[in-house]
Amino acid sequence: MRDIDAPVQYLKGVGPRRAVLFEHLGVRTLGDLIAHYPRLWQDRHETRDLRIPTGGLVVLRGRVLRAAQHAAGPALGIYKATLATAHGKVECLWFKHLSRGYDAFASLKSGAAEGADLWVIGRAEPDLTGVREIRVDEHYPLADERWRMHAGRITPVYALTKGLSQRLVREAAHKALELAADSARDAVPAELIAKRKLLAAPQALRGIHFPRSDAELEAARARLAYEELLLLELAWILKRRQTRGLRKRFSYEIKRALLTPFRQRAGFEFTRAQKRVINEIFDDMRKPYPMTRLLQGDVGSGKTVVALSALLLAVENGGQGALMAPTEILADQHRATLDRFLDGLPVRIASLTSRTPKKERARILAAAGAGEVDIVVGTHALLESGVSLPNLRLAVIDEQHRFGVRQRTTLRQKGSLIDLLVMTATPIPRTLALSLYGDLEASTIDEMPPGRAPIKTFLSPEAEAFAAVRLEVAAGRQAYIVYPIIEESARLDLQSAKSEFERLKTSVFPGIRTDLIHGAMTGKAKSAVMRRFASGETKILVATQVIEVGIDVPNATAMVIQNADRFGLASLHQLRGRIGRGGGESCCHLVADPRTEHARARLDIMAATADGFKIGEEDLKLRGPGELLGTAQSGELALAVADILKDTELLGLARADADELLQADPKLLAPGHGPLRERLIALYQSRWNWIDLA
Ligand code: ADP
Ligand code: MG
Repeated sequence: MRDIDAPVQYLKGVGPRRAVLFEHLGVRTLGDLIAHYPRLWQDRHETRDLRIPTGGLVVLRGRVLRAAQHAAGPALGIYKATLATAHGKVECLWFKHLSRGYDAFASLKSGAAEGADLWVIGRAEPDLTGVREIRVDEHYPLADERWRMHAGRITPVYALTKGLSQRLVREAAHKALELAADSARDAVPAELIAKRKLLAAPQALRGIHFPRSDAELEAARARLAYEELLLLELAWILKRRQTRGLRKRFSYEIKRALLTPFRQRAGFEFTRAQKRVINEIFDDMRKPYPMTRLLQGDVGSGKTVVALSALLLAVENGGQGALMAPTEILADQHRATLDRFLDGLPVRIASLTSRTPKKERARILAAAGAGEVDIVVGTHALLESGVSLPNLRLAVIDEQHRFGVRQRTTLRQKGSLIDLLVMTATPIPRTLALSLYGDLEASTIDEMPPGRAPIKTFLSPEAEAFAAVRLEVAAGRQAYIVYPIIEESARLDLQSAKSEFERLKTSVFPGIRTDLIHGAMTGKAKSAVMRRFASGETKILVATQVIEVGIDVPNATAMVIQNADRFGLASLHQLRGRIGRGGGESCCHLVADPRTEHARARLDIMAATADGFKIGEEDLKLRGPGELLGTAQSGELALAVADILKDTELLGLARADADELLQADPKLLAPGHGPLRERLIALYQSRWNWIDLA
């Protein structure tokens, strides 16, 4: 066994009991521990100026003058030591919970007794008495050489799990590097290390854990980031290559039997951009290998009819199509759109959501399985294992950022070698798209349907916003009033949305028909509310973000977003996209009292632009890609240190190198590429449930 594969259990200070805890961190071997990179690094060079702001990090070295234990409460003890340092005297405080029959302070009494020389690392407490007080997190006797791992240097801080201390993990990592860093097999081929002037793996690993300077840390980080990006790019290229090697068992002919009547029923001319992307999609569908295409287009740009065109091509060639949306409301609305546009055409449509009654569901599944349904519209319910679509040829995923690579794959596997179209209104820059969805080709609708009056956005006091709503309603228009519900306080938020609704209905807008819609309602109730609003029966819809995606009621021309500072930019833009869908001018009022700079910045961006692409970019800058992707997706890229937003230069190099590498050695079989091949499989096999290097 190479040292790198040795279990951590045999490290000094770990043992079988703690080895179990290390497993909670995904660490079993020395190699795993070395790959458990620090979460952050602290500059623990000695603090020379003791005027530290409260809460600030303090690193001291000195001699204990006096020390004593005190009570600090019924079950809390405090150990106080006065430390004389070269820069002044400091009171050090250790707090410990007291339990009967056990002296929590025993080790302090011996290790931090009067006369002991110590390093102390802690936080500055409020300076009430004029003497600096430090709440100690870690301390190390100078007599024990191990302090050198923890103090007087740039010090790694690790993600922990219950039962493991920072000190223990740090010492274990240090030991693991000593024993095994040199036997780490370098995944980056020697030729690339030379070409890109990279640190060798052992150096990089030592540098990321225990850097001797900021420059060394950055060099190590860059080298490891490059490695991660190289692996990601290789994985994408292979995935693309694999797809292109597949052969569909069907082919398409553009018959126009359904397409032409559908266009006539639409009642509007498709925009140039819509026609262009439809052609791109049709071209793809007629290729011999399965399509994987991303359709980007701002909110309201008309993606639905594009999707419908693609679905109809599949249907008029005798196949089945599926359209999956992230929410029931949206699935319902798509269903309504299909019914409207396809009225009188021989297309059999069915809907499937989690609220479809059992009996009905069984009937639909049987019909779909027998090929008696042409287009099935639904939510995640489509992904369930009972759903079989033997003749499925095209799957469309709407608002794809709400789903992950795995869900995409699952839907795709409902048929064999089918075409896939994913749509999103959260546009991202091209370079980023390539890294996030490297297996996708992108089409972009960069033009809005004609006659859209722009939406004006204001930061308004509530009274003004409500006055504007009254005017719109008086002019025969409709309005949304939106209240945020955020996960952390969902119950309270819902309560306040409900009581706000009562207030609005009875005292703010008496005499105007007002309805409420929120996520906790049954699907049936939600549909009923949406129907009343779409028909114009209700004038004001008080809503939570359930209306965020897809809802399309052209006569709604005003929106008030309450507590707008609590929404993210992407949500605000999506919400605002619910208005400005008819001919009339629309207004969006953001009511907020922003407390943070971020919140302020978001609102200013919203007021300044309605361009979804710009907002997408700003959003990325403010939040980073992890949040934009959501948890569904961020774990699917094996990136621990690389930042695809900031490491764009490295990303470019990695992409070029990955390309060249696979040109020269398509299956990575060259002797020098073994470690790279192994890493690639280890990383992406499990994440994507796929890697094809056979
Ligand atoms: P999104 O891209 O946000 O999904 P939709 O597909 O919901 O946008 O389209 C928004 C509205 O614009 C719908 O009412 C749709 O019928 C309408 N629409 C789509 N294309 C056109 C067009 N070319 N001309 C006029 N209206 C259009
Ligand atoms: Mg849409």
